[in-house]
Amino acid sequence: MLQNVDVGRRRLDAYRRCAGDAVVDELHRLAAPLDGVRVLHVNATSYGGGVAEILRSEVPLLRDLGVVADWKTITAEQGFFEVTKALHNGLQGDPRGLTDEQWQVYDAASEQVAAQLEESYDIVIVHDPQPLALPHRHGRGGAKWVWRCHIDSSQPNPHVWDRLRPLLSVYDAAVFTLGAFVPPGIPVNRVEIIPPAIDPLSPKNMPIDEAFAAGVLDWIGVDTARPLLVQVSRFDPWKDPLGVIDAYRTVKRQVPGVQLALVGSMALDDPEGWRVYRQITSAAADDPDISLFTNLTGVGNIEVNAFQRHADVVIQKSLREGFGLVVSEATWKGTPVVAGRAGGIPLQLPDGVGGLLVDTPDECADAVLGLLADPGKARRFAAAGRELVRERFLLPRLIGDELRLITSLLG
Ligand code: UDP
Repeated sequence: MLQNVDVGRRRLDAYRRCAGDAVVDELHRLAAPLDGVRVLHVNATSYGGGVAEILRSEVPLLRDLGVVADWKTITAEQGFFEVTKALHNGLQGDPRGLTDEQWQVYDAASEQVAAQLEESYDIVIVHDPQPLALPHRHGRGGAKWVWRCHIDSSQPNPHVWDRLRPLLSVYDAAVFTLGAFVPPGIPVNRVEIIPPAIDPLSPKNMPIDEAFAAGVLDWIGVDTARPLLVQVSRFDPWKDPLGVIDAYRTVKRQVPGVQLALVGSMALDDPEGWRVYRQITSAAADDPDISLFTNLTGVGNIEVNAFQRHADVVIQKSLREGFGLVVSEATWKGTPVVAGRAGGIPLQLPDGVGGLLVDTPDECADAVLGLLADPGKARRFAAAGRELVRERFLLPRLIGDELRLITSLLG
């Protein structure tokens, strides 16, 4: 099924303070000729995960700019999301691929969803592999179609990629976060590189004072007087939560008071989440200083804001990552980050800016220990990271890049 996500409208001018007048004026200039243009974003879930996060923020601002923007998600039986998770993993290089039955589930669900797309649009932006087959099944219907891939698809499973390539050939453009992510032999003429961005005014990222953040964390059971390490991630093996626990245990040998909070959301389209959740709870069972928090017990945007702001170090030990919004969310709040050297993360934490890149749990522990031992260094990293986010990873920049692409596709 296709379902509308209703997110209203928000004033772009509210971004003048954080992004600057020049950036906001440029967006108004870019959008003027697009007044009334109909744009649809389609993805798989309205919450949990970076794509939902971006669309929730972006669509109301596109409306303020005069674009007739809609956001729809595809919903299907649970079996469909098992399949699309395998597809997602396959694009990231998982050798397991999909069975014939799984491809049948994918094809049947894509057909059903395509039959429900009734309105006509000038531009349809399809996010990630879940709705990828939409134009193939639905027909182009006079629209320009864009595939927005948020995944590190530089080395896809060849079988998965061979099945997806014909579905992609009807697209007018494909957008990736990094040039290195463009898979071999992509059958789309126009390929653009546009990194994602965070919303500085969302409840997750808005300024809150330290006392308020500490109050929120106290209430949910964190000892705010002791050092705190935090990873905020879907419960997904590629985010390496067990590696984070290993690193934490090494840190704890030298800093006995340290605590670890693993904050994770259960997304509708991520059936692997519960399995990983159980693995983490059993790995953490012997240590009361490791805590798990989820959206299911009310840990939402304000709590994530408080965690990322109050943490001594935010960890993001991803093994594969298109672009970790969480990395930029933390550096924007002036918190140093230790993150896996994977996919788009080095773009977010270039040499000494924002934090440190690591490859193993031991390196992660060393990096965390170094930052805990030298708060001056941690503050310098963090301050540089915040400036990088201001320059390159705030939402108005992303909207500008997309408006330029839309203009040129319609031109
Ligand atoms: N997130 C959240 N609560 C959680 C876990 C994640 O709000 O418990 C948010 C997180 O703050 C970020 C997004 O989900 O905005 C995750 O995006 P990211 O690009 O880091 O990873 P993805 O889930 O897209 O792989």
